[in-house]
Amino acid sequence: MTFRKTEAITINQKNYSETSQILTLYTRDYGKMTVLARGIKRPKHRLLNPPDLFSYSEVIFIDKSPQGMNLLTEITVKENFQSLRINLSRLRMAFYIARFLNELTEPEESSPELFNLALRTIRLLDAVEPELNKVKKGRKITTNSCSGMEKMIIFAFEAQALKYLGYMPHTLSCPVCKKTLAKSRKVTFSFYNGSILCPACCVRQSRLADGQARPDDLIEVSAGVMKLVDVLSNPFLPDLKRLKITAPMRAELRGFINKYITYIANT
Ligand SMILES: [Zn+2]
Repeated sequence: MTFRKTEAITINQKNYSETSQILTLYTRDYGKMTVLARGIKRPKHRLLNPPDLFSYSEVIFIDKSPQGMNLLTEITVKENFQSLRINLSRLRMAFYIARFLNELTEPEESSPELFNLALRTIRLLDAVEPELNKVKKGRKITTNSCSGMEKMIIFAFEAQALKYLGYMPHTLSCPVCKKTLAKSRKVTFSFYNGSILCPACCVRQSRLADGQARPDDLIEVSAGVMKLVDVLSNPFLPDLKRLKITAPMRAELRGFINKYITYIANT
C-alpha cells in the first residue's frame, strides 16, 4: 500500500454509492487517474469534500487498493475559480478543458506540461476582465458573450495541448518533399497525415492501398490559419492580446481545430 501526493484538476465525477463518488483527476505527476472517494458525500467528512469540476486541489491517494482501485484519502481544494463560475461562456470553456483532458488523454500517462497548461488556461479564464461593452440607461452591463480574448485563450490551449499529446499538425511545409507552401493562399490539409501536403504529395499520400481517395481526409484551408496554429502552439507566446485576427479567420480556425480534434478522438 503506497500513499501518493500530487496536484490535480477534477475533470469528471460520478456517484458510486449513497456516500461515495468516483472522481477522474488530471494530475501533475500521474496524468489522468480514476480514484474512489469513499464517504466523500458524508456531511463534514474530515479529509474529503466533493470538489467542483475543474477546481485545482492537492490530493493524497492510495495506489491501487486490494479492490484494484486507487483510493482517495485526502483532498484540499486550493483554487475554485469563483469569478469564472458566474460567467456562462467562460464556464462552458472550462468544462470544455475538463472534457478535452478526459477524452483525449490516456490513463496514467503523465505530462506535467499539459497539466501546467490546463491550470494556466483555467486561471487565465478566471482572470479575464469582464466585457463592459453595453451601456443601458447610463449603467454598464457585463455581457455573457464569449469575448475575442477568451476565444484566443482556448485556441492557444488547444494548439499547445495537441503538441504535448503528440498530435501537433505539420502546418508550414509539406513534410514529405519539404516544399514550403508559405506563398500559397490556400493549402490542402490531410487529417490522416496530420499535415499540409503539396499537390504532388497529396495525390500519393492521401490514397488507400487500392488507389481510392481516403474519405473525408482532405480539406482546403488558408495558409494564414495554418501559420496561426503554429504561432499559437508556442508555449512562450508573449501576449495573446497582440495577435490580431479577423472574425472570418477566427471562424476558419475554429472549424479546422474542431474537425482535427474530432478526427483524433475517433481514430
Ligand atoms: Zn510534397
